[in-house]
Amino acid sequence: MAGGSAADFELGLLQGFAFACRSGCALCCYASPAVTPAERARLVQIRPELPVGPEEDGFALLPTRPNGGACVLLRGDRCTAHAARPFPCRTYPLQAHVGRRLQVTLVLACPGLDLGALATWAAPGGARAGPRGFESELGALAEEGAQAPLLAWMRDASDEERRLLRRIAHHAGPEDPEEVRARLRRTPGGPDPTQQLCLPPPGEDAPLEELPVLFHGQYGRVALRSTDVETYELLGLHENGTPPERLAEIPLPEELPRLDPEAAELLGGYQRYLVDRDHLLWSTYLEMSSGRPGALSDELAANLTEATTEVLRRASVLARFGGADGDRLGAEELLAGIRAVDSELLDRPTLGRIL
Ligand code: SF4
Ligand code: SF4
Repeated sequence: MAGGSAADFELGLLQGFAFACRSGCALCCYASPAVTPAERARLVQIRPELPVGPEEDGFALLPTRPNGGACVLLRGDRCTAHAARPFPCRTYPLQAHVGRRLQVTLVLACPGLDLGALATWAAPGGARAGPRGFESELGALAEEGAQAPLLAWMRDASDEERRLLRRIAHHAGPEDPEEVRARLRRTPGGPDPTQQLCLPPPGEDAPLEELPVLFHGQYGRVALRSTDVETYELLGLHENGTPPERLAEIPLPEELPRLDPEAAELLGGYQRYLVDRDHLLWSTYLEMSSGRPGALSDELAANLTEATTEVLRRASVLARFGGADGDRLGAEELLAGIRAVDSELLDRPTLGRIL
């Protein structure tokens, strides 16, 4: 078999979720999607003047405009090459992790996703409806499955994993990753209010295109930047590359916020969702291979704690930005924090590939 097929994709992480793209959002276009040579040829037919970066590993990147602006093909919040848009644009908010298996996850930053399914994620006995609204995105994924050399990528990823595991086994011990995940799913542990900022958004010196971008109901696309260890800054972005304006500077909460019961359920569900994502496990392995490894269970739990602590911080900052005190969060406020963190987690390097 030369490639994978649609049936090879593991879709469990989509169960219970619904999607409807929000008109005028265009959040996913504040990015530089990778294009294959075939996609590039189709795009150049529509936009002959299209600038495309140099190729690497068979892919080139579509450039964005300066100052954190949008992809050069976006005009008035619409893609000017919609029919020929590249694969990452056709599948968003789906992302596939090519590791031991082809696991499809959701990019939870997308405001077109209804995140209600998180509340009961992996709860005992919770039967779930199938995913709704992803027909064309799943269709694009199936096309890729039929064409790309996915099985070779999986073999390479598995070889690399075995090699790294041999290297870290001396320190990490022979823990079964699935047992570790099952344990964490049952008792993921809470956020750690004493934790230092390990996952702040990039700081003042970072290029604007590296900042996490969120969709704000009132201001549209905003970027989040840490000005120092005590403050986050929100910047309003412009499609055309006009320099962004500073919308607010919000001090970090001195204490982590408390949660309404519904928000607490959502946070617990998000932790279980992260545990179920292969990406978290494989990015943890990669960190362990280059750092000072502890036991897998400790490293995975630390990453989970770090991520959920930052969800609470960003949720509190965004709530303050909206005029609330940010000390106690409801469900919608908590979800804003999840959306503000999720893309960055998925951008972390991992063993395997991201489609
Ligand atoms: S981020 Fe989601 S809702 Fe917004 S344009 Fe992209 S797919 Fe649609
Ligand atoms: S190619 Fe089109 S859909 Fe993709 S990021 Fe650019 S403007 Fe958006």
